[in-house]
Amino acid sequence: MLAAEAAHEAISKASEKETLTPSSYDKTLRDSWVYSELKAVRNIRPSFHTPLGLFGGLAYSGLDTLFLRGKVPWTFSHPTPDHLATLPKSQCEKIEYPKPDGKISFDLLTNLTRSGTNHEEDQPIHLTLRDSKVPKSINWPEFDGPEGRYCPAGVYEYVDDPADGGKKLQINAQNCIHCKTCDIKDPTQNINWVTPQGGGGPQVNPRPYVNVHARELTLQQYNGT
Ligand code: SF4
Repeated sequence: MLAAEAAHEAISKASEKETLTPSSYDKTLRDSWVYSELKAVRNIRPSFHTPLGLFGGLAYSGLDTLFLRGKVPWTFSHPTPDHLATLPKSQCEKIEYPKPDGKISFDLLTNLTRSGTNHEEDQPIHLTLRDSKVPKSINWPEFDGPEGRYCPAGVYEYVDDPADGGKKLQINAQNCIHCKTCDIKDPTQNINWVTPQGGGGPQVNPRPYVNVHARELTLQQYNGT
């Protein structure tokens, strides 16, 4: 909203030939609750990656949450980018997740329909691969297709490839809910996410829940009642 307001302000004030710069955005963001909330918690997760270790990180994050509230002059950072932290499948064990019960937990596609996600079919694709060979040569054989696991919208599917009897990556870009996980987490940074045209994507006011009982449960849990 702040970005949109800054863009609107810049457009309203600019003449036709002028380059638009939404210069008020930086200041309004810094003055907003978004900035102060994020600043207060900036050291929580990175504190686990300091020489303090796991238990030191736990102690620091507890202290920071309860007393310091981020009002310290230092800022910790993560030593490794997220995409390099993904382990190859040879070092992982398969996790058996409980199946959705249809009351308070639902399958992925049911949840996706509730986001009201929609993209115009003939718009330029907003998800591309830098190298189309990487899914077959690295992501599937070494990591067991992580994009098909972390994507919350079923965008990435490994399907049978009749050409060689193996698997190939199919990208269902119209399902994307714009979380940008793939852009950040892909092991070789091969996925390029750009903003889709035309305001497509998840709706701010998604369609009402189909399951009224589930909605009541969810709201009760949210309210702690
Ligand atoms: S941005 Fe999120 S929802 Fe969209 S394709 Fe990437 S992981 Fe899936």
